[in-house]
Amino acid sequence: MKPFAYVNAANEKEAVAALGKDYEKALPIGGGQDLLARLKDYVTQPDRLVNVKNLDATVTRANGGLKIGSAMKMVDVAEHAEIGRMYPAVAAAAIEVGTPQIRNQGTVGGNINQRPRCWYFRNEEFVCYKKGGNRCFSPQGENQFHAIFGSGPSYIVHPSSLAVPFVAYDATFRLVGPRGERMVKAADYFTMPTKENVERENVLEPDELLTHVILPPPGSIKSGHYEVRYKTSHDWPIAFATVLLAMAGSTGSTAQSARVVMGAVAPVPWRSKEAEQALAGKPITPETAAAAAEAALTGAEPLSQNAYKVQVAKTAVERAILQAAGLPIT
Ligand SMILES: Cc1cc2nc3c(=O)[nH]c(=O)nc-3n(C[C@H](O)[C@H](O)[C@H](O)COP(=O)(O)OP(=O)(O)OC[C@H]3O[C@@H](n4cnc5c(N)ncnc54)[C@H](O)[C@@H]3O)c2cc1C
Repeated sequence: MKPFAYVNAANEKEAVAALGKDYEKALPIGGGQDLLARLKDYVTQPDRLVNVKNLDATVTRANGGLKIGSAMKMVDVAEHAEIGRMYPAVAAAAIEVGTPQIRNQGTVGGNINQRPRCWYFRNEEFVCYKKGGNRCFSPQGENQFHAIFGSGPSYIVHPSSLAVPFVAYDATFRLVGPRGERMVKAADYFTMPTKENVERENVLEPDELLTHVILPPPGSIKSGHYEVRYKTSHDWPIAFATVLLAMAGSTGSTAQSARVVMGAVAPVPWRSKEAEQALAGKPITPETAAAAAEAALTGAEPLSQNAYKVQVAKTAVERAILQAAGLPIT
C-alpha cells in the first residue's frame, strides 16, 4: 500500500479543511470497509486520509422527518426505533448489508459513497474507464453481475443498499465544502456515466463531504424492500427493490400513487416510472403486482451473461409490492 498522511479531524470544519481540489488525492475515511480494500488493491492511492467518524452520528427530528448524521454506523441505522417505524425500508436495507462486523464498522456516508464492486475496476491490471482508461471491459468480458439498464459506457451497478430506499423516500443529502453547504436530492446525487464523467458515480466535489441524510415526513406510506442474493449470506444483492405505496384511505387496498426503485441493476438507483404508473389507481393484488414488475423491467438491456437478472429484478419488485401491501409472498 502506498504511504499516506492521516488527519484525525475533530469536526466537519476540520475535515473539509483537510480535503483538496483533486479527485482521490485526499479522501474521507469512515469505517474504511471499502476504502482500505481499495488501497490494498492499488485501485485508489491517495496522499491523505481524513477521518470523518467524528462527524455527526446521531438521528434528530427535522420538519416532521429525520436527519441522519453520515457518521452513524449501519448497525445503528438498522436498530434505530424511529428509523424503523418511520422508514422501514431504510432499516430493512441496513440490516441486510454485509455481515455484523461490516455493519458495526461501516457508516452511512461511506455506504452511500462506496465505489463500484465491478471486478475489472477492483483489479489494478484492468485500466478501465473508471481509472482513466478508454474502455469498459464488461460488455466483452465476465458480466454476470453488471448493469441491465443504462447502456454504458460503463456497466457498473451502484453498490449502495441504502441509496435505493433513500431515493425512494425522496431524501436530501447535505453536502459541505469550502464554499458552504448545499442540499442535493438523493435522486440527483447519483450520476449516470457519460464519456465526460465516467470516473465518478455522484456529484460530490473532491473538497466536499456528505454530512447528513434528511428524510421528509413519511406520511401514511406503506413500504416494501426485497433483496435477492445468491445465498442467504454476506454478499451484495443480485437485484433488489424498494416500493412505497400511498394507499387511498387508511384501510384502502387501492394505491393512489407508488414509488418503485431498483438496486443492483444500473449505475444509479433505478426508478421505474413504468411500474409506478402500472400501480397508480389500481387495487394491489398479486396480478397488479406481477404486471407492475413486468413494467419495471421494460427496456432492460442485459449483457451476454446477465439476462437472468431481468427475472430476478422482476421478482424483487413483485415481492416488494406484495410486502408493501401486506399480501403474502408465495
Ligand atoms: C462481504 C461484504 C459484503 C457487503 N455487502 C454489502 C451490501 O449488501 N450492501 C451494501 O450497501 N454494501 C455492502 N458492503 C459494502 C459495505 O457496506 C461498505 O464498504 C461500507 O458501507 C462502507 O462504509 P465505510 O464507512 O466503511 O466507508 P469507507 O470505506 O470509509 O469509505 C467508502 C468511500 O466513501 C467515501 N466517504 C466516506 N465517508 C464519506 C463522507 N462522509 N462523505 C463523502 N465521502 C465519504 C470514502 O472516501 C470512500 O471513497 C459489503 C462489504 C463487504 C466486504
